[in-house]
Amino acid sequence: MNRKKIESKYKKKIKILINYNKNYYDTSKPLVTDKEYDDLKKSILILENKYSFLNSASSPSKIVGFKPSKNFKKISHRVPMLSLANAFGREDLVNFEKRILNFLSKNSDFNLSYSAEPKIDGISASLIYKNGEFKIGLSRGDGKEGEDITANLATIKDIPKKIVSKDFPEEIDIRGEVFIQNSDFENLKEKFANPRNAASGSLRQKNPDDTKKIPLKFIAYTFGYKKGLKIKNQIDFLGKLNNWGFKTNPLNKLVTGVDNLLINYTKIEKDRTKIDFDIDGIVYKINNFDLQKRLGNVANAPRWAIAHKFASNKAISNILNIEIQIGRTGALTPVAKIKPVNIGGVIVSNATLHNEDEIDRKDIRIGDLVTIERAGDVIPHILSVDKAKRETKSSKFIFPKKCPSCGSKTVKEFNNITKKEDAVRRCSSEGYECEKIAIEKLKHFVSKDAFNIEGFGKKIVENFWKFNLLKSPQDIFKLDFKKIENLEGWGKQSVENLKYSINQRKNISLERLIYSLGIRHIGLENAKILSKYFKSFSKFISFLNNTRLDDILNIDGIGETQLNSIKNFFNNKVNFSILKELQKILIIKDAVVKDENGLLKEKTFMVTGKLNGISRAEAKSLIEENSGTSVSMVSKKLNYLIIGEKPTKKKVDMAKELKIQILDQTQFLKMLNITS
Ligand code: NAD
Repeated sequence: MNRKKIESKYKKKIKILINYNKNYYDTSKPLVTDKEYDDLKKSILILENKYSFLNSASSPSKIVGFKPSKNFKKISHRVPMLSLANAFGREDLVNFEKRILNFLSKNSDFNLSYSAEPKIDGISASLIYKNGEFKIGLSRGDGKEGEDITANLATIKDIPKKIVSKDFPEEIDIRGEVFIQNSDFENLKEKFANPRNAASGSLRQKNPDDTKKIPLKFIAYTFGYKKGLKIKNQIDFLGKLNNWGFKTNPLNKLVTGVDNLLINYTKIEKDRTKIDFDIDGIVYKINNFDLQKRLGNVANAPRWAIAHKFASNKAISNILNIEIQIGRTGALTPVAKIKPVNIGGVIVSNATLHNEDEIDRKDIRIGDLVTIERAGDVIPHILSVDKAKRETKSSKFIFPKKCPSCGSKTVKEFNNITKKEDAVRRCSSEGYECEKIAIEKLKHFVSKDAFNIEGFGKKIVENFWKFNLLKSPQDIFKLDFKKIENLEGWGKQSVENLKYSINQRKNISLERLIYSLGIRHIGLENAKILSKYFKSFSKFISFLNNTRLDDILNIDGIGETQLNSIKNFFNNKVNFSILKELQKILIIKDAVVKDENGLLKEKTFMVTGKLNGISRAEAKSLIEENSGTSVSMVSKKLNYLIIGEKPTKKKVDMAKELKIQILDQTQFLKMLNITS
């Protein structure tokens, strides 16, 4: 590419960026996701680095935010409010630290400590205090001049209006973030696309009475101009902010070295969805103020801080279709088929729409341009619909009133507890008459916590169904292995393995059998309760033949909901006959009564990694049958961590740190006098 072309490409990008900035900072109505914005910004910075002749006063390496709006009086910041450089991974952090050490002329063994502060996705504000009194409040604006939003900021309860502490500086600008909690945003969803826009839009209202109606919060984290501040580092300053009556982020932490920054980052990113406000990364600041001063600033950001951004969890795309999936209990779940889009490194092509009510409430239609969110391991979902971009010929989505699989009527049940109709619509057929439900029931039957047939996955169930090898649970034990051997992907050895796994499971506990049937509202816990109550399969069967089914209401933990579900299930003749057939094939073990004084008495256990031939649920039962307790977290209360194949490194490290005894599978079984 010649110089002219490069310059023109560069200018085009800058122009687009200015437009994005205007819409984001000024009108609080962003045109693109933060990821798209950050990518554009990055591409401009790369070009500038590569070609020294590129130069623009509007470059993102020079500017901060956007010029103040004409709606407010402009006031100059006594100390500029800067932006932050971004880091996206380990390499960026290593380079950041290297640059600092070079600048300070220190060796790589010099320990740098950072104040690691979750970066709240709100808008920053500077509060000018004189002799303990809140005098003026400014927005960041373009970093040099801010908007005078004193009256609006004064409506925020978290902002102290008068501070009487003796050590509060004579004059100081306290800076922090104004934001809205996600739980409060629920009520504002209709008006704003996300909590950040809601905070920005509400804070910069012309009339402070309108701001007052919005539950804005303020968290403080730094200062600008100061006179008479006698503190030497950031962590102590954060502590002082608390003493003076400001809220600070409880997740702020002092961290030393890049490796520990990454450990802290991973932990916070994982727990991100549990926090009641949006954070889009973690800000790392050199803790020592003297070092901060020596490092100083580049054009628009301090040299001593960096924002380590989280992978974006939102994207915009089109709904290509809305499909209805049918679950094991007959629930009809709408799924949006999305034009594939990259969200935080994962290509997303499906998003759950939850249920009929959700589609109605958000008026989601095929063809709509939507914002999709993917948070943690949760299935992606539709956050909002851009109705302005909707085609005029688009029509409302009509939820099917008949089951798309078997044609039975679909119903919404009345919930006796909430006294409301369920949000979920269900296929009214109970049992194996509905093909989709039957396939899901079979998948449940072979799954880990049920029969746990190794190698019998969901895909195999679907395949065997397609080839008419499997229609009911009892068919699993009468499979035509000759036919399977000839199917694509199967051979002698894999068939032998499958045969072996199936045979191994012919011996089953009553509790697992009850759970495997897939009766609605009878999960693992209730199956356990019922099995303990009936003790043997024969008693369970005779109960089902009994007219006094209501007797089980006397069992602690079993209520009307479970009783009705059991009644419905066995009123269906097919379900009952399946149980009879299974009885002929299986050896059903009586319920084991827990030994109160077992070998693992008063001991707590946790499993990490895959055990050989023992599922998690089985290990849990083994522990409990022998009076042990199974826990789900590594803490001081844990006595033994059992390690299987590919254990979670973090759990093992933590156990070592807490000096918790670590066992492999053989050592664990030895405790139970079982030799493997
Ligand atoms: P920045 O990334 O430069 O970071 C500085 C800001 O971080 C501060 O002003 C403050 O508001 C915030 N912050 C939160 N916690 C902090 C803490 N503990 N210490 C210091 N600062 C803290 O922010 P920016 O300059 O406003 O711009 C970049 C951000 O805005 C990016 O995330 C970008 O994706 C987004 N943006 C999006 C669009 C869009 O169109 N979607 C447009 C412009 C900017």
